[in-house]
Amino acid sequence: MTTKSKVLVDLKIALVQLNSQVNQVTQNINRTWSLLNKFKEKTHKTPDIIVFPEFALTGYNFHSRDHIFPFCSLTKESESFKLAKQVSKLFNCYTVIGYPERTSTNNIDDGEPLYNSALVTSPQGNLIFNYRKSFLYQTDHDWHCHENPMGFQTFPLTFKQPNGKPDITINTSIGICMDLSPYEFEAPFIDFEFASYNLDMGTELIICPMAWLHSSSITDKSLSIIEKNEKKLEILQNLRKLDLPPYGSQNDFQFDLEKHTQKFKSLESDDYSRMDEPDLSNVDYWIRRFLPFLDLDHRTHWFQTDLIEKVLNGKDEEFLQHCPTKKSFMGARTDIPWAFKGKNMIMVNANRCGVEDGTTVFAGSSGIYKFNGKMEPGELKDNSKNHSVELLGNLGKGLEGIIMREVLFQVER
Ligand code: GLN
Repeated sequence: MTTKSKVLVDLKIALVQLNSQVNQVTQNINRTWSLLNKFKEKTHKTPDIIVFPEFALTGYNFHSRDHIFPFCSLTKESESFKLAKQVSKLFNCYTVIGYPERTSTNNIDDGEPLYNSALVTSPQGNLIFNYRKSFLYQTDHDWHCHENPMGFQTFPLTFKQPNGKPDITINTSIGICMDLSPYEFEAPFIDFEFASYNLDMGTELIICPMAWLHSSSITDKSLSIIEKNEKKLEILQNLRKLDLPPYGSQNDFQFDLEKHTQKFKSLESDDYSRMDEPDLSNVDYWIRRFLPFLDLDHRTHWFQTDLIEKVLNGKDEEFLQHCPTKKSFMGARTDIPWAFKGKNMIMVNANRCGVEDGTTVFAGSSGIYKFNGKMEPGELKDNSKNHSVELLGNLGKGLEGIIMREVLFQVER
């Protein structure tokens, strides 16, 4: 029997936060390059991986298949692949970027499935992986996006290590925005489908390109036109107060290379103000969706009773449907109270910012998190205040920018 040992991994991760607008692909790409070039000039940093948001270059709010179709491409023919290839070669790094994918080579729309995807290029600029969003949001349904037929997936990424240490292959997965939420917002919150899948698969790096909404967005379809217009006016007036155009901030770049997010700051940052500060209530929600990776004081109790056994073997139909791996429930397994104990996992989310249609306000706050697998006695919170998650940093909610962190974590090999 070979005994496993702990290996310390050193990764430099950069996230790009953009306010891309529909119908402005060229401007979006140009701004992306000016952001990247400023980052390079200013910092001389060499990230190992750069992550872009969901639909990074096209904008997000498409309303029908006809609306989105001209912006969809085969993976290798997309502007996003072209950009990712160039970024990878320039920085000698992996690049992950979200884009709308078509699947047929016909010139016309032949009714083929369209996907909300994220492609990955290697430091040499080759396409090495393509993931399609599994759980869809209302806006994706509006243009008849298809679900990933494969469901959640993992894939290996091999990284160079400093000081002549051998390369290390990391078990990685991608979750695109709604993948983090309960399926169709209907599955039980406590199933934590995406997090449970990744815990069961032993994922060490979770990459989330996102277009996540701020709570001031108008999403209620039952509003009358008058009510909707009143709310639109509120958003517009708020933007005016902040001296911003109706689509939010562009070109006022934020670079963040070191500031840790303060855990114990109050969550007063709910409202859409202070563009350079993260939206901590959303940060809290994202962390809560990874509860299987958080230290909890209840698990030992569950373990002593046969609660987990009952849930996992009781074949709760709804739970089984979207938790394909089905080995754990809220981080607990029948053979061990907390399957993640003593392990490490890095989660990054590259979210977009800005406003689309005067109705959809995006939450920005792109961030880098380390789940450290440590256990402590006492009452433990099920959110970002939990001691077992380290908030390594977040960009502000409303500014375009780049955040980069050098992350150290342990894996077993
Ligand atoms: N749950 C996400 C939200 O509320 C979904 C958005 C998305 O998938 N782009 O913002």
